[in-house]
This record gives sequence, structure tokens and C-alpha cells, in this order.
Amino acid sequence: MRYLILSDIHSNWEALESVLADAAGDYSQILCLGDLVGYGADPNAVTAWARQHVHRIVRGNHDKAVAGLLDLAWFNPAAAAAAIWTREQLQPENLEYLKRLPPGPLGVESFRLVHGSPADEDDYVLTRWEAAQLRQYLESPLYFFGHTHVQGGFLVHRNGTQVVPPLRPSQRRHIFELPEDFWCLINPGSVGQPRDGDPRAAYAIYDSEERTVEFRRVPYNVSLAQRKILEAGLPAGLAHRLALGQ
Ligand code: ZN
Repeated sequence: MRYLILSDIHSNWEALESVLADAAGDYSQILCLGDLVGYGADPNAVTAWARQHVHRIVRGNHDKAVAGLLDLAWFNPAAAAAAIWTREQLQPENLEYLKRLPPGPLGVESFRLVHGSPADEDDYVLTRWEAAQLRQYLESPLYFFGHTHVQGGFLVHRNGTQVVPPLRPSQRRHIFELPEDFWCLINPGSVGQPRDGDPRAAYAIYDSEERTVEFRRVPYNVSLAQRKILEAGLPAGLAHRLALGQ
């Protein structure tokens, strides 16, 4: 089965549209690692799309915050302002959908979906050291995670860890073969707010028969997404960072 793996769309409709056009015809099911909303200006369009098209999904911390399931004191001021704005914008059926999203880990075939970490849905896995600490929690050879907005991931072996680097700015696609004797923690990157220095929307295609992950990047209409954020009265920094990929 070929899966389209999306994470951290963050109400960015322009980025999502470009990813879907780029991946069209190349997958059977869509899986999502959470944070449908927060930061961007199109929470209803993105959530309504997810309700119709996403096969399996776990909740992200921004989904929880908007749904009233996470204290906004955990958020920085811009993220909190965006969560409050998003809650006011959402149509009732979309808000209800966010409230009912399940926490990870969620099993699909023999792999798992999580938002943050296999240990805790709200934890960040940013370093090899953090990945190495997760050994005791790993129940499957393959986890897809998001939350950091950094494409790539980690391979965890009893003898140490290795880093799966993100695509270089010159690359559009890269096929990565999952090695047999490692636990693989794979991050498709963020569709709607990349933070790995590359402003292009990030996603991945997982082929469960070939055991390959294809990391992909696709340009999108950043200036339109920025304009919508500013016109909505959301914090200007949320618009500016999209052009930087930070
Ligand atoms: Zn996120």
C-alpha cells in the first residue's frame, strides 16, 4: 500500500493544495499526524477537507488547544492568539471533529502514527539523544511523527542512533530505504509551516511493500497564505516566518 503522510498542515490551504496536486495519483490512503489547525488562516477549509479525505489521523497539540483540551498557558502568545482566533472561526461540525481526534500511537498495518513522540503525544523529538531515550517505548519497527516541523527523522539501534537528514534545498524528492535492523522514526515534515530552513511544503509517501519512504518538497503560493494571515488580523510573525521556513 502507498500512503500519503501529512503532518502539521496548520490551516495553510495553499500549501495543502500544492501537496495534493504534487502527490495526485501516487497513493491509496492519506494518513495525518495532527495539527490540522493553528497559525494559518484557513481552519475550516483544511478541517472540512480532512473530514472527507483523511483515512487515519491522530490529534496534535494545536488541535487539542483549539478544542479546549489543552491549557493555552503552554503556548507562546502568537500560538495562543491563533488558537483563540481559530476556535471562534470554526464551524461547529469542524470543531466537533477536532474534539474527537484520537491521541497516538495509532496502529496502521504494522507501523504507528504519533504527533510528538512514541512516549508522549506532546513531546518533541529533535535530537539523536532524545530519539535514543525512546527505546523502551518502541513497540513497532516504524513510527511516523511530526510536531517538530523538521523533515527527516532518526534510526535507533541498540548500538546508537543515526540521523535521517531533511532534503537539501536543491532536491525535490528523495527515496529512503528503511533499514531492517533499526527502529525507524520518520518525520514527513510540515505541510503548512516548515521549520527546517526550507519554506517549501514538506510531505512523504510511504510504500509499505517496498519499505521505502519518499521525502518530498513542493513550492506553494506563500504570499497568498501570508496575505490571508495578515488580513485575518493574526500575529504578523506567523505570516513572515512562512517565507523563511522557520
Ligand atoms: Zn505543529
